[in-house]
Amino acid sequence: MTHKCSWCYRESLDCKKMELQFRDQFQEAEVCSTECEKTFSDFVRYADKNFRKFVLLILISLVLGLIVTFWRIKIDYGALGVLIIFMGPGLALIKYPFVTPQTVERYGGKKAVFFGRVLGLVNMLIGVVFWFVLAKVVP
Ligand SMILES: [Zn+2]
Repeated sequence: MTHKCSWCYRESLDCKKMELQFRDQFQEAEVCSTECEKTFSDFVRYADKNFRKFVLLILISLVLGLIVTFWRIKIDYGALGVLIIFMGPGLALIKYPFVTPQTVERYGGKKAVFFGRVLGLVNMLIGVVFWFVLAKVVP
């Protein structure tokens, strides 16, 4: 019977079971090679270590962005604030591409990380477009 590697999502005949620890919870995964095992466990360790920073970065961007929006609404229609609201989480996702465990389970860790970065990039692009419209087009 073939199994899918939890990291690269390739099918393999001899997957190896491994245990991962994230936020005090253990979860079992199957990997196709020692290379995937190392990359996956390194990533989970990185996620475990930086998860709080990731959440904090998003929260700070949202709060700061809202404050700047209201403060500058008469100056730039809130353009700078909106830029912060989208840029902060976008950058956070590129540095810490942590998506939901369901996404990792469904597409494999490697693709999930890629999706996280793309989502971050999309966020940043939306921010730039909004900023451009509010700062350059509307006035
Ligand atoms: Zn693999």
